[in-house]
Amino acid sequence: MNLKDHIRSIPDFPKPGILFYDISTLLAHPQAWRATVERLADAVRPQRPDLLVGIESRGFLVAAPLAYALGSGFAMVRKRGKLPGKTVSFTYDLEYGSDTIEIQHDAVAPGQRVVVVDDLIATGGTTEAAITLVQQQGGAVVGAACIIELSFLNGRDRIPVPVTAMVSYDS
Ligand code: AMP
Repeated sequence: MNLKDHIRSIPDFPKPGILFYDISTLLAHPQAWRATVERLADAVRPQRPDLLVGIESRGFLVAAPLAYALGSGFAMVRKRGKLPGKTVSFTYDLEYGSDTIEIQHDAVAPGQRVVVVDDLIATGGTTEAAITLVQQQGGAVVGAACIIELSFLNGRDRIPVPVTAMVSYDS
């Protein structure tokens, strides 16, 4: 099973010049999606995570079934204002401007082993920010995992933990 056969690429979305990797087609294919989750589980299991932290929104689609497969917990990192109750936030720089992410204040217990999960790592900025937020809560981030890595953007160079990716595009 070649997972790339089930990932659709859409040019010029969400803006001109961006090639968007769409996992809808992967999710829609039962065998391909099962293979994706099983392969991720096999790769992440040795890191023995207590908790998977999924990044809004496609990261949730990956992290929740992966947590189920691994028998670990699941928590959400969301954009500002989406999570109820007491939250903690982290603001990070983008190419133009900044962005703020949040997690519920009690989502991570100090010392918990955490793997941060998204669908795709491009520049690595989103995953790096989520890792910082989890670390500020006392979590021990032991890895980052994604389905797709855009390796030509060298995102893994700025991520301070081992990165697991199922497929990689080098241009
Ligand atoms: P980055 O912070 O640059 O690593 O960007 C990663 C985040 O943006 C992830 O949440 C991805 O879902 C999304 N993203 C960035 N580039 C793409 C792309 N070419 N196709 C699909 N999603 C992308």
